[in-house]
Amino acid sequence: MVMLPCPICGTDCPADWLTCPSCGWDVTPESRLAIAQQPSHLHWGRSLWQQVQRELALNQRFEAIEQRLAQLEQSPSNPDEPLEESRTISELDHPYVPLAFHLAQQDWREADDWTWQRILEVAEMDEQGWLDGDEIAAFPQGELQTLDELWYAYSEGHFGWSAQAEIWWASGADYAQFCDRVHWRSGRTWLYYDDLSFHRQAPRGHFPVLPWRKRACYGLGGLTAAETLSHWMARFPDLNPDPMIHD
Ligand SMILES: [Zn+2]
Repeated sequence: MVMLPCPICGTDCPADWLTCPSCGWDVTPESRLAIAQQPSHLHWGRSLWQQVQRELALNQRFEAIEQRLAQLEQSPSNPDEPLEESRTISELDHPYVPLAFHLAQQDWREADDWTWQRILEVAEMDEQGWLDGDEIAAFPQGELQTLDELWYAYSEGHFGWSAQAEIWWASGADYAQFCDRVHWRSGRTWLYYDDLSFHRQAPRGHFPVLPWRKRACYGLGGLTAAETLSHWMARFPDLNPDPMIHD
């Protein structure tokens, strides 16, 4: 049987078929001839097909999000943790859905903003606008883990505090060195928030931004950026390969 590729999606179709089984395009000889003579139609058909494929891919990602949230919901809570810290996602009425949505779309800026607002809300520090060392130490473990897991999973290990903690300890818990590695400092210039790279090709550990919001060298509230980061990284002691290094 003679097979001919569909002009739109490339699927091999038997020559006597009328429509492509993948994209539904008219693959009769007349249609093939017509479209070969109309490159703009061909281009339009292909871009339409690609758009549909992107939407399908996005839907698949949303399904993955739902599965991921269901997994988190089912994961047994640690019996050693106080009840408050082991609240499941369902009990919290899935507050992470917007974050998962931003992350799935690789909208790192929205995801980072959402994460920061969430931290302030959970810590009840919306008005104050920053967390001190005690408040960071007391930040609920369950929240911390879920936020980190979502960032880490959706960026495939590229972003998230787990990624940052590895870099932090590898930098000898040195803020300037850390900033050079995650590219919060370029040469001798500390980056402003708007200077960050809001795409997946950003250096590993570039997001989320916890120790500062305006410029990497300005702290938040009563703490320097280095102090704030050090308090957060202390929440990930397991990623410290050398326990002799601490802040
Ligand atoms: Zn086709």
